[in-house]
Amino acid sequence: MKKLGFGLMRLPLTEEGNPQSINQELLNKMVDYFLKQGFTYFDTAYLYHQGMSELAMRKALVERYPRESFVLADKMPTFLIKKNEDYQRIFNEQLEKCGVTYFDYYLLHTLGVKNYAKTIKHGGFDFVKKLKEEGKVKHIGFSFHDKAELLDEILAKHPEMEFVQLQINYIDWDSNIIESRKCYEVALKHNKPIIVMEPVKGGTLVNVPEEVVKLFKNYNPEMSVASWAIRYTASLENVFMILSGMSNLEQVIDNTSYMLDVVPLNDEEKDIIRKATEIINNNIAIPCTACEYCVEGCPKKIPIPKFFSLYNQKQFRLEPSHRTYYYNLIQHHGKAADCIGCKQCEQHCPQHIAIAEQLKEVSKVFDV
Ligand code: SF4
Ligand code: SF4
Repeated sequence: MKKLGFGLMRLPLTEEGNPQSINQELLNKMVDYFLKQGFTYFDTAYLYHQGMSELAMRKALVERYPRESFVLADKMPTFLIKKNEDYQRIFNEQLEKCGVTYFDYYLLHTLGVKNYAKTIKHGGFDFVKKLKEEGKVKHIGFSFHDKAELLDEILAKHPEMEFVQLQINYIDWDSNIIESRKCYEVALKHNKPIIVMEPVKGGTLVNVPEEVVKLFKNYNPEMSVASWAIRYTASLENVFMILSGMSNLEQVIDNTSYMLDVVPLNDEEKDIIRKATEIINNNIAIPCTACEYCVEGCPKKIPIPKFFSLYNQKQFRLEPSHRTYYYNLIQHHGKAADCIGCKQCEQHCPQHIAIAEQLKEVSKVFDV
């Protein structure tokens, strides 16, 4: 199986701002081109495009191609589950909407501290195991948005999970909040094949500062900016699939061109990526170095550097996963809005950041 997967979460629209208005005609053309190049993996989810992604996929793929000619992944929305019976109801609905009798890959969607607890409480792991035994899904796994430590715990307790889907890209690799590298290392430790999501961080690593574009183009004017980010993840051991949420035919043509016979990054290219990461990080809003000197002593237990990291990342583009990370964090920590402005933290900040003021900005974005 070729390593590029068609993510069906940022599909072309006929009406800007209306996620349900999927441009079916264009999607069909994109799917045709993708398959014609020999790629077969498609990734949808119950909630993508407010429930319309599965239906659009059905029209583009299931109703136009033999079932065995493509590989289909779908996800159980763990965050919507209120009782055990919800699993079967939603799964039946998914089969119906997709027009299939089985999924090749089936994921517990967005595990993190909160959804993991819910999934245990309502028997989600047993449910997907049962689906596999019944032949309704071929492979079971989960997508993950939280700390590497929790990933380690989940994989240790649930060896039946066959693969894991992680957010990995060069800007999140050493992030103290996303923990791409740490999560990747945990997956390797448990010998779990990895599906990469957000390789271009929702477009962030396409819309990079001009200086970074020049860096890439000077090395190879033919290679797109996106190709650097995608090939970065394709160069990692044990990554068997990279999902790209494609929105137009040009992106499909570009992505498939270098993923047809993907060439891992060479040392010089890795060095360029390191420089690009540095430039992007230097363009960030809050110059927090994540030293954590400020954290101890905060009466509200606010995870200051983690919030700043999320805020810095959102300046490129606010992704739904940023809110998920924020939500997970505030299960056990104070919110940005909880700050009482005592400034105890600021006495310890070597970067002299006006923490209390900056938290107000964080709050405007995430506490709404
Ligand atoms: S100013 Fe806010 S973040 Fe800083 S220690 Fe006080 S409550 Fe915590
Ligand atoms: S002390 Fe300053 S630089 Fe260090 S983590 Fe806190 S805000 Fe960031």
